[in-house]
Amino acid sequence: MEMTPLDAWIARRIEQTGNTLHREALERFQLNALNSVLEYACHCSPFYRRHLANAPKSLTALSQWADQPLLSDEELRAYGQDMVCTSMGDISRIVTLYTSGSTGDPKRLYFTDPDLEHIIDFFRIGIPPIVGNGTSLVTLMPGSRPATVGDLIDKALSHIEIDCACYGFLTDPQDVWEFILAHKANCLVGLPSQLLALARWAIATGKISESPVMSVLVSGEPAPLWLTHEIENVFSCPVYVHYGMTETGFGGAVECAAHDGLHIREADLYLEVIDPVSARALDIGDVGEIVVTTLNRQGMPLIRYRTGDFARLLPGTCSCGSTVQRLERVRSRGDANADATRGVELGAIDAALLTHPDIVTFVPTLLLERDRARLCLDMASQRRDNIFERDIYERLRGIPELARRFESKELSLELQYVDASTCFKVMPAKRRLFVSYDYKENDNASN
Ligand SMILES: [Zn+2]
Repeated sequence: MEMTPLDAWIARRIEQTGNTLHREALERFQLNALNSVLEYACHCSPFYRRHLANAPKSLTALSQWADQPLLSDEELRAYGQDMVCTSMGDISRIVTLYTSGSTGDPKRLYFTDPDLEHIIDFFRIGIPPIVGNGTSLVTLMPGSRPATVGDLIDKALSHIEIDCACYGFLTDPQDVWEFILAHKANCLVGLPSQLLALARWAIATGKISESPVMSVLVSGEPAPLWLTHEIENVFSCPVYVHYGMTETGFGGAVECAAHDGLHIREADLYLEVIDPVSARALDIGDVGEIVVTTLNRQGMPLIRYRTGDFARLLPGTCSCGSTVQRLERVRSRGDANADATRGVELGAIDAALLTHPDIVTFVPTLLLERDRARLCLDMASQRRDNIFERDIYERLRGIPELARRFESKELSLELQYVDASTCFKVMPAKRRLFVSYDYKENDNASN
């Protein structure tokens, strides 16, 4: 099995001689980088000067990093501009993330040209082994504007013989399929839920026999095993999982040929896992919330940012031979919104329903009334019959929280059949649970 190229790349990045990465050298590098980040952020950012005023100013061991305060998503939304450490003239890209819901402030992330170069560098090293012998890659994510994912992948692969084309998020499966065929795409990059829907559509229509796809890279949402197995079976090719978000600089961690954990880009990011309630740092192997520190971000460094994502760091070395720290596949954000959605949780609904082979995709909307709620599913499915509908209901009743609410009549289910492209038009990007308040004038929505 081929070892991930990340070891040699990180070894080069930390100016260690030889291609074998030594943990002690890497940890020394990270310790220095964390001390530099502290000094840089306190010196250049008004927010961090206040935020870190009472924290230790330097550390002599990585274990002391947990003494620094955490950074919440609310703080990032509220004080983002005060976290910027360069002049605005040096910022070449601002990414604005809108999440609707009660905490409606948009989140803004600021990147300089060197920040973007680090991202491109990671893609340049990380993507070619996934494309393998293929010569063409299609990204089903945004790419028309500078410094979007598609654009950064295009720049990363511009020096080698891999043609890149970017479609944007999946809207109409037929149209995407024609795009894939026109570009003879050997590698697809996209959201796992969208690639699953495309795979099911390609099977249902018999188009799969034309598929040029030889590998798939999924990113942007949790990718459970059953989901990647199904994509693997449909396309008869390996599926690689990547974890990253705008906050981590798009790239974060990626699977190697062993498919046994995601190797973290440890020269750029320092990842911790904490207990989400006590905020205590957890040991390797324990599941908790992922906390990210950027090691070399110029524009807007993040120091102990709480991602809201859950996973664990995996112990031991990878069977590919790499010593780069691995992260388990990220789990659903869980109950982050459970209060607002009265226990109805997208991850659980998806796990119960998307595993149904006849469902192409569906859009869930929760209509909240004062003392009851309706879960409305706009369903794109190969089946439209009573047995199918009973199956859907039984699968949802398999979620204890929902079973209780169905039983007490606090929750009811409404099913409406639509075609797949209607679903993708309503939910063109990451999967979400739409929430609408029937007892107020204003509509609201949340992830
Ligand atoms: Zn590996």
